[in-house]
Amino acid sequence: MSCLPNDLIIAIDGPVAAGKTTAARLLAQRLGYCHIESGAMYRALAWKALKHKVDLSNPSTLVSLLAQTELKLRSTSEGFRVVVDGEDVTDVLRSPKTQAAASILSVHPDVRKELVQRQRELGAQGGVVMDGRDIGTVVFPRAAVKFYLTASLDERGGRRYRESPQELGTLERTLEEVESRDRRDMERAASPLKPAPDAIFIDTTHLDPEGVVRQMEEHIHRKFKDRHDFSLA
Ligand code: C5P
Repeated sequence: MSCLPNDLIIAIDGPVAAGKTTAARLLAQRLGYCHIESGAMYRALAWKALKHKVDLSNPSTLVSLLAQTELKLRSTSEGFRVVVDGEDVTDVLRSPKTQAAASILSVHPDVRKELVQRQRELGAQGGVVMDGRDIGTVVFPRAAVKFYLTASLDERGGRRYRESPQELGTLERTLEEVESRDRRDMERAASPLKPAPDAIFIDTTHLDPEGVVRQMEEHIHRKFKDRHDFSLA
Protein backbone atom coordinates (compact mmCIF):
# COMPACT_ATOMS: atom_id res chain seq x y z
CA MET A 1 0.00 0.00 0.00
CA SER A 2 2.87 2.30 -0.89
CA CYS A 3 0.69 5.15 -2.23
CA LEU A 4 -1.31 5.56 0.98
CA PRO A 5 -0.81 9.00 2.53
CA ASN A 6 0.36 8.94 6.14
CA ASP A 7 -2.25 11.34 7.46
CA LEU A 8 -5.63 9.82 6.70
CA ILE A 9 -8.37 9.24 9.23
CA ILE A 10 -9.93 5.79 9.16
CA ALA A 11 -13.20 5.38 11.09
CA ILE A 12 -14.49 2.05 12.36
CA ASP A 13 -17.95 1.86 13.94
CA GLY A 14 -20.30 -0.90 14.96
CA PRO A 15 -22.16 -2.53 17.85
CA VAL A 16 -20.77 -4.29 20.93
CA ALA A 17 -18.23 -7.05 20.21
CA ALA A 18 -18.36 -6.69 16.43
CA GLY A 19 -14.54 -6.87 16.46
CA LYS A 20 -13.87 -3.15 15.96
CA THR A 21 -11.08 -2.66 18.45
CA THR A 22 -9.00 -5.69 17.49
CA ALA A 23 -9.35 -4.88 13.79
CA ALA A 24 -8.54 -1.20 14.41
CA ARG A 25 -5.40 -2.12 16.34
CA LEU A 26 -4.17 -4.55 13.66
CA LEU A 27 -4.98 -2.19 10.80
CA ALA A 28 -3.19 0.70 12.52
CA GLN A 29 -0.10 -1.51 13.02
CA ARG A 30 -0.09 -2.48 9.34
CA LEU A 31 -0.44 1.12 8.17
CA GLY A 32 1.97 2.59 10.71
CA TYR A 33 -0.93 4.65 12.06
CA CYS A 34 -2.03 5.35 15.65
CA HIS A 35 -5.00 3.48 17.04
CA ILE A 36 -7.49 5.39 19.18
CA GLU A 37 -10.19 3.44 20.96
CA SER A 38 -12.88 6.04 21.65
CA GLY A 39 -14.90 3.65 23.83
CA ALA A 40 -11.99 3.67 26.29
CA MET A 41 -12.70 7.36 26.93
CA TYR A 42 -16.33 6.64 27.85
CA ARG A 43 -15.16 3.72 30.01
CA ALA A 44 -12.49 5.85 31.69
CA LEU A 45 -15.12 8.40 32.71
CA ALA A 46 -17.41 5.58 33.83
CA TRP A 47 -14.63 4.07 35.94
CA LYS A 48 -13.99 7.39 37.66
CA ALA A 49 -17.72 8.04 38.16
CA LEU A 50 -18.14 4.62 39.82
CA LYS A 51 -15.08 5.24 41.98
CA HIS A 52 -16.47 8.58 43.20
CA LYS A 53 -20.04 7.27 43.38
CA VAL A 54 -21.25 9.90 40.91
CA ASP A 55 -24.82 9.55 39.66
CA LEU A 56 -24.62 8.24 36.09
CA SER A 57 -27.90 9.91 35.23
CA ASN A 58 -26.65 13.41 36.11
CA PRO A 59 -24.91 14.95 33.09
CA SER A 60 -23.71 18.14 34.79
CA THR A 61 -21.91 16.24 37.57
CA LEU A 62 -20.37 13.95 34.97
CA VAL A 63 -19.17 16.90 32.88
CA SER A 64 -17.55 18.52 35.96
CA LEU A 65 -15.94 15.21 36.84
CA LEU A 66 -14.56 14.99 33.30
CA ALA A 67 -13.21 18.54 33.53
CA GLN A 68 -11.20 17.47 36.58
CA THR A 69 -9.88 14.36 34.88
CA GLU A 70 -6.52 13.99 33.19
CA LEU A 71 -7.09 11.38 30.52
CA LYS A 72 -4.14 10.09 28.52
CA LEU A 73 -4.40 7.56 25.73
CA ARG A 74 -1.29 5.82 24.48
CA SER A 75 -1.02 3.72 21.35
CA THR A 76 1.99 1.47 22.17
CA SER A 77 3.47 -1.54 20.40
CA GLU A 78 1.94 -3.73 23.14
CA GLY A 79 -1.48 -2.21 22.57
CA PHE A 80 -3.58 0.71 23.65
CA ARG A 81 -3.13 2.04 27.22
CA VAL A 82 -5.40 4.38 29.16
CA VAL A 83 -4.02 6.49 32.00
CA VAL A 84 -6.48 8.37 34.24
CA ASP A 85 -5.03 10.94 36.64
CA GLY A 86 -1.65 9.22 36.40
CA GLU A 87 -2.98 5.68 37.00
CA ASP A 88 -2.88 3.05 34.24
CA VAL A 89 -6.45 1.70 34.29
CA THR A 90 -6.45 -0.12 30.93
CA ASP A 91 -7.23 -3.53 32.38
CA VAL A 92 -9.94 -2.52 34.85
CA LEU A 93 -11.77 -0.62 32.11
CA ARG A 94 -12.63 -3.98 30.51
CA SER A 95 -14.81 -5.07 33.44
CA PRO A 96 -18.48 -5.63 32.56
CA LYS A 97 -19.49 -3.19 35.34
CA THR A 98 -17.45 -0.37 33.81
CA GLN A 99 -18.68 -1.18 30.30
CA ALA A 100 -22.30 -1.11 31.46
CA ALA A 101 -21.75 2.24 33.21
CA ALA A 102 -20.10 3.66 30.06
CA SER A 103 -23.11 2.67 28.03
CA ILE A 104 -25.40 4.49 30.49
CA LEU A 105 -23.46 7.76 30.67
CA SER A 106 -22.83 7.89 26.92
CA VAL A 107 -26.47 8.86 26.27
CA HIS A 108 -25.90 12.40 27.63
CA PRO A 109 -25.30 14.96 24.86
CA ASP A 110 -23.13 17.18 27.12
CA VAL A 111 -20.86 14.31 28.06
CA ARG A 112 -20.56 13.32 24.39
CA LYS A 113 -19.77 16.89 23.36
CA GLU A 114 -16.75 16.98 25.68
CA LEU A 115 -15.45 13.57 24.64
CA VAL A 116 -16.02 14.20 20.92
CA GLN A 117 -13.97 17.39 21.27
CA ARG A 118 -11.10 15.41 22.82
CA GLN A 119 -11.37 12.74 20.11
CA ARG A 120 -11.18 15.38 17.37
CA GLU A 121 -8.08 16.89 18.97
CA LEU A 122 -6.43 13.48 19.20
CA GLY A 123 -7.15 12.67 15.56
CA ALA A 124 -6.57 16.12 14.10
CA GLN A 125 -3.16 15.33 12.61
CA GLY A 126 -4.47 12.24 10.82
CA GLY A 127 -2.60 8.97 10.59
CA VAL A 128 -5.18 7.42 12.90
CA VAL A 129 -7.58 4.53 12.98
CA MET A 130 -10.32 5.42 15.46
CA ASP A 131 -13.04 2.98 16.52
CA GLY A 132 -16.33 3.63 18.30
CA ARG A 133 -20.01 4.20 17.62
CA ASP A 134 -20.13 7.64 15.98
CA ILE A 135 -16.69 8.13 14.44
CA GLY A 136 -17.76 8.09 10.80
CA THR A 137 -21.05 9.92 11.45
CA VAL A 138 -20.19 12.61 14.02
CA VAL A 139 -16.56 12.73 15.15
CA PHE A 140 -14.98 12.62 11.68
CA PRO A 141 -17.78 12.73 9.10
CA ARG A 142 -15.18 13.47 6.40
CA ALA A 143 -12.93 10.53 7.33
CA ALA A 144 -11.16 9.17 4.25
CA VAL A 145 -12.32 5.61 4.85
CA LYS A 146 -15.20 4.34 6.99
CA PHE A 147 -15.99 0.79 8.00
CA TYR A 148 -19.08 -0.50 9.79
CA LEU A 149 -18.54 -3.88 11.43
CA THR A 150 -21.39 -6.18 12.41
CA ALA A 151 -21.82 -9.80 13.49
CA SER A 152 -24.76 -11.93 14.60
CA LEU A 153 -26.03 -11.39 18.14
CA ASP A 154 -25.12 -14.97 19.11
CA GLU A 155 -21.57 -14.55 17.90
CA ARG A 156 -21.12 -11.19 19.63
CA GLY A 157 -22.66 -12.45 22.87
CA GLY A 158 -20.37 -15.49 22.75
CA ARG A 159 -17.29 -13.32 22.26
CA ARG A 160 -18.25 -11.06 25.14
CA TYR A 161 -19.03 -14.02 27.41
CA ARG A 162 -15.69 -15.72 26.70
CA GLU A 163 -13.89 -12.50 27.77
CA SER A 164 -15.33 -12.51 31.33
CA PRO A 165 -17.41 -15.66 32.01
CA GLN A 166 -17.04 -15.31 35.79
CA GLU A 167 -18.37 -11.79 35.98
CA LEU A 168 -21.04 -12.19 33.33
CA GLY A 169 -22.57 -15.33 34.87
CA THR A 170 -24.33 -17.05 31.97
CA LEU A 171 -24.37 -16.77 28.20
CA GLU A 172 -28.11 -15.96 28.31
CA ARG A 173 -27.52 -13.00 30.60
CA THR A 174 -24.66 -11.82 28.41
CA LEU A 175 -26.87 -11.90 25.32
CA GLU A 176 -29.47 -9.81 27.14
CA GLU A 177 -26.81 -7.32 28.22
CA VAL A 178 -25.41 -7.02 24.69
CA GLU A 179 -28.91 -6.52 23.27
CA SER A 180 -29.74 -3.85 25.80
CA ARG A 181 -26.47 -1.98 25.16
CA ASP A 182 -27.11 -2.14 21.41
CA ARG A 183 -30.61 -0.80 21.93
CA ARG A 184 -29.37 2.06 24.12
CA ASP A 185 -26.66 2.96 21.59
CA MET A 186 -29.01 2.82 18.61
CA GLU A 187 -32.01 4.51 20.17
CA ARG A 188 -30.39 7.39 22.03
CA ALA A 189 -31.19 10.85 20.68
CA ALA A 190 -27.58 12.09 20.70
CA SER A 191 -25.34 10.52 18.04
CA PRO A 192 -27.08 7.15 17.86
CA LEU A 193 -25.12 4.22 16.52
CA LYS A 194 -25.84 3.93 12.79
CA PRO A 195 -23.72 3.32 9.73
CA ALA A 196 -22.47 6.37 7.86
CA PRO A 197 -23.99 6.41 4.35
CA ASP A 198 -20.53 5.94 2.83
CA ALA A 199 -19.37 3.20 5.24
CA ILE A 200 -18.19 -0.19 4.00
CA PHE A 201 -20.01 -3.02 5.82
CA ILE A 202 -18.07 -6.04 7.02
CA ASP A 203 -19.88 -8.94 8.66
CA THR A 204 -17.35 -10.48 11.03
CA THR A 205 -19.52 -13.43 12.18
CA HIS A 206 -17.38 -16.00 10.35
CA LEU A 207 -14.13 -14.05 10.15
CA ASP A 208 -11.11 -13.98 12.43
CA PRO A 209 -9.40 -10.60 13.04
CA GLU A 210 -6.87 -11.37 10.29
CA GLY A 211 -9.72 -11.95 7.81
CA VAL A 212 -11.41 -8.69 8.79
CA VAL A 213 -8.22 -6.67 8.36
CA ARG A 214 -7.53 -8.35 5.02
CA GLN A 215 -10.91 -7.11 3.74
CA MET A 216 -10.17 -3.62 5.07
CA GLU A 217 -6.76 -3.53 3.43
CA GLU A 218 -8.20 -4.74 0.12
CA HIS A 219 -10.76 -1.97 0.21
CA ILE A 220 -8.19 0.70 1.08
CA HIS A 221 -5.87 -0.62 -1.61
CA ARG A 222 -8.63 -0.45 -4.25
CA LYS A 223 -9.62 3.02 -3.15
CA PHE A 224 -6.16 4.52 -3.19
CA LYS A 225 -4.21 2.56 -5.78
CA ASP A 226 -4.65 5.00 -8.66
CA ARG A 227 -5.31 8.17 -6.77
CA HIS A 228 -3.18 11.15 -6.12
CA ASP A 229 -6.02 13.52 -5.22
CA PHE A 230 -6.55 12.12 -1.73
CA SER A 231 -9.36 13.72 0.19
CA LEU A 232 -8.32 14.18 3.79
CA ALA A 233 -10.74 14.32 6.70
O1 C5P B 1 -16.39 0.56 22.61
P1 C5P B 1 -16.88 0.15 23.97
O2 C5P B 1 -17.91 -0.94 23.90
O3 C5P B 1 -15.82 -0.11 24.93
O4 C5P B 1 -17.60 1.47 24.50
C1 C5P B 1 -18.23 1.49 25.77
C2 C5P B 1 -19.54 2.26 25.63
O5 C5P B 1 -19.27 3.62 25.30
C3 C5P B 1 -20.45 1.73 24.51
O6 C5P B 1 -21.39 0.79 24.99
C4 C5P B 1 -21.14 2.96 23.98
O7 C5P B 1 -22.36 3.16 24.66
C5 C5P B 1 -20.20 4.10 24.36
N1 C5P B 1 -19.51 4.66 23.21
C6 C5P B 1 -20.13 5.66 22.51
N2 C5P B 1 -19.50 6.29 21.48
C7 C5P B 1 -18.27 5.92 21.12
C8 C5P B 1 -17.61 4.89 21.81
C9 C5P B 1 -18.27 4.26 22.86
O8 C5P B 1 -21.28 6.00 22.80
N3 C5P B 1 -17.66 6.56 20.11
